[in-house]
Amino acid sequence: MNAKVWLIGAGPGDPELLTLKAVRALAEAEVVLIDDLVNPLILTHCPQARVVAVGKRGGCRSTPQAFIQRLMLRYARQGRCVARLKGGDPCIFGRGGEEAAWLQAQGIETELVNGITAGLAGATQCGISLTLRGVSRGVTLVTAHTQDDSPLNWQALAQGGTTLVVYMGVSKLDEVRQGLLAGGLAADTPVAMIENASLPQQREQRSTLVQLCEDAARFKLSSPAILVIGEVAARAASGSTLLQIPA
Ligand code: SAH
Repeated sequence: MNAKVWLIGAGPGDPELLTLKAVRALAEAEVVLIDDLVNPLILTHCPQARVVAVGKRGGCRSTPQAFIQRLMLRYARQGRCVARLKGGDPCIFGRGGEEAAWLQAQGIETELVNGITAGLAGATQCGISLTLRGVSRGVTLVTAHTQDDSPLNWQALAQGGTTLVVYMGVSKLDEVRQGLLAGGLAADTPVAMIENASLPQQREQRSTLVQLCEDAARFKLSSPAILVIGEVAARAASGSTLLQIPA
């Protein structure tokens, strides 16, 4: 019996941005549960495995999270080696820690495998250094989408002096703009919107905090996308492909 659950970060989309450890775990897996945002090309590393799509678009309805956890538990209790593929890093807005703790509480051996989180990947793919020397002393990863809709501490975010990387922000752009402006961030603070980071259909658009909503609408920004907010967003290395919108 080699029952085990691997909770694996599949990275932002480009199948080459996968760790060697993830590849090894996939080669050992008998069952692979794959989330929506994971590039299916990654499945070339586990031709032997049964593949189950468990994203919201994969057929789970009312309580997908509980359903997925029960499914992992069921396969593991059958003595199978299970790999759960999650987008980006399993522990960055990915419930990896929760799932690992829950599985361990059920007596199941569990291992987390890092992935490259979308915010870091997206910035680098666009030539943006999130901690550019002399410009930014740090980076804050934040979700615009809280489970209980509680407000973020925009003032702290605006005044923290770090580059902000906003996940799940596409439907909350106005909230992000209003919150940060009210919190004291300058209206002309540079913003980069990065959609489908690391995939062939990656798009990016530069804007400013005050223009964010209008520019996103013209650009037809859609999910999955991240926002990079801060001076570094105006300092991309040359060579990145900027899609310009005609004025
Ligand atoms: N665990 C994931 C995040 C899951 S939350 C990670 O570490 O990356 C889902 C959000 O991640 C999306 O709403 C979007 O903001 C971001 N995201 C995921 N993949 C992305 C991609 N390829 N490009 C841009 N943003 C992405």
